[in-house]
Amino acid sequence: MKKGRLIVISGPSGVGKGTVVKALMERDPQVRLSVSATTRQMRPNEIDGVHYYFLSCGEFETMIAEDRFLEHAEYVGNFYGTPEEPVNRMLEAGHDVILEIEVQGGLQVMQRRSDAISVFIAAPSFEILGNRLRGRGDTDEEKVLKRLQQARVEYRVAPRYQYIVVNDRLEDAVSDIQTVLRAEALKSEHQQHLLKEAD
Ligand code: 5GP
Repeated sequence: MKKGRLIVISGPSGVGKGTVVKALMERDPQVRLSVSATTRQMRPNEIDGVHYYFLSCGEFETMIAEDRFLEHAEYVGNFYGTPEEPVNRMLEAGHDVILEIEVQGGLQVMQRRSDAISVFIAAPSFEILGNRLRGRGDTDEEKVLKRLQQARVEYRVAPRYQYIVVNDRLEDAVSDIQTVLRAEALKSEHQQHLLKEAD
């Protein structure tokens, strides 16, 4: 069976990564999303094992020591990591696997898996990003400014991603990512089987 592809998706808080990923998975049901581990507090609407594996710092450290993460990073005071084994299992089963992770982790994946496809989702502008963060309602102005500052840090890493997709209209952003995935599949290196007959 053909192996699936590893897809790294990053982008600043408020850009709508989660919504884009959800819409992408609805359009293409074979795509899977990796469930990360984190040491951050569970939010009221979250389910352990579905949204994240919520771990203590000790449990997280044990997983690092046992080399069970494909990548891991600290992000605003909490640890986040991608358990490697389930990702490999899904890839072997032929699923494309999305890692929705921040940029330090994204860079680690690019280094370790040269075949990973990397997409950075950008906002149409910083003004719009700020407005989206304010629109969430649960965020005071100080937090908004902190997140915008963090977004600037992430944008500095964005040129290391293979593709940059703007999330202005959700449908367009999802179509753009599908175009990326289609173009990747058409790359000559993935089409060699079609040329075998000529041998
Ligand atoms: P949140 O706490 O809001 O769910 O996520 C905060 C940030 O951590 C987001 O940018 C999210 O994409 C990122 N993140 C989630 N899981 C992982 C992971 O496994 N590894 C890394 N490096 N970042 C992650």
